[in-house]
Amino acid sequence: MSEALLVAQVEEQLLDLGLKRAAAVLPACVEWAAGQEATYVAFLQRLLEAEQEERHSRAMQARLRLANFPFHKTLADFDFSFQPSVDERQIRELATLTFVQECGNVIFLGPPGVGKTHLAVALGMEAIRQRMSVYFVTMQKLVSDLRRAYQEGRLDRRLRVYTQPKILICDEVGYLPLDALDAANFFRLVSERYERGSLIITSNTSFTNWGTLFGDQVLAAALLDRLLHHATTVNIRGNSYRMKDKLRAGVTHAFSGTRDEANVCVGNESR
Ligand code: ADP
Ligand code: MG
Repeated sequence: MSEALLVAQVEEQLLDLGLKRAAAVLPACVEWAAGQEATYVAFLQRLLEAEQEERHSRAMQARLRLANFPFHKTLADFDFSFQPSVDERQIRELATLTFVQECGNVIFLGPPGVGKTHLAVALGMEAIRQRMSVYFVTMQKLVSDLRRAYQEGRLDRRLRVYTQPKILICDEVGYLPLDALDAANFFRLVSERYERGSLIITSNTSFTNWGTLFGDQVLAAALLDRLLHHATTVNIRGNSYRMKDKLRAGVTHAFSGTRDEANVCVGNESR
């Protein structure tokens, strides 16, 4: 059998075994091996590496889709010089994801536009790169989903969606006050994840006001107790990145601090 026919036959065999990428790169690998006078095992290693890389990349794409991120942004996209209140070293330390091994939590606090969601997503993207499961949900969507599940008598099953991922990102806690059922469901979720998985939370409301937010001081205290037991809180104070260009021109208002301590400063430029 000629070499070309043999290659074609091996290609078919690889496809039959579901090794699509290896089949695609086979001719190039054969050519490379001949040119380099590579050993059989070096040839095989190269062929399998191509297949492995493709599979890892596909698995990562699948995990990215499942994570439900609102956008795909990484730490490389974050301009630390715009937000001096963010300690770059601390964020880079968080990005090592040691906190996930310890089932710790991260809470980003700050006014709108300062990069809370961006940083939460960036940590999530890094976790996905490290082959962890991540799920992103806004607080509003989370509580309405759990409420529906509760009303339909399937809360236990539905909670699993939010307890199973290694990291759950819960975005925008505090934009809307919660009623008793929503507060109780969220408390149950936090309790079930406690010391079993990590939570990344973003909020515009400082902890002192969580009693009001959850409509129950005792529940809020118990919730914060679990949430903050192994947690890093990143307090971001500064201007909204969304207003960056307007701020440069000194034409608009900026908030600094969390909701309760928000103040208005005209033309407050941060750089
Ligand atoms: P928040 O969640 O605090 O309201 P976001 O994270 O949604 O703010 O940020 C608003 C927009 O500005 C996003 O598109 C985000 O990527 C961008 N952004 C915020 N801060 C920075 C920054 N320091 N560097 C680069 N982009 C930023
Ligand atoms: Mg946000």
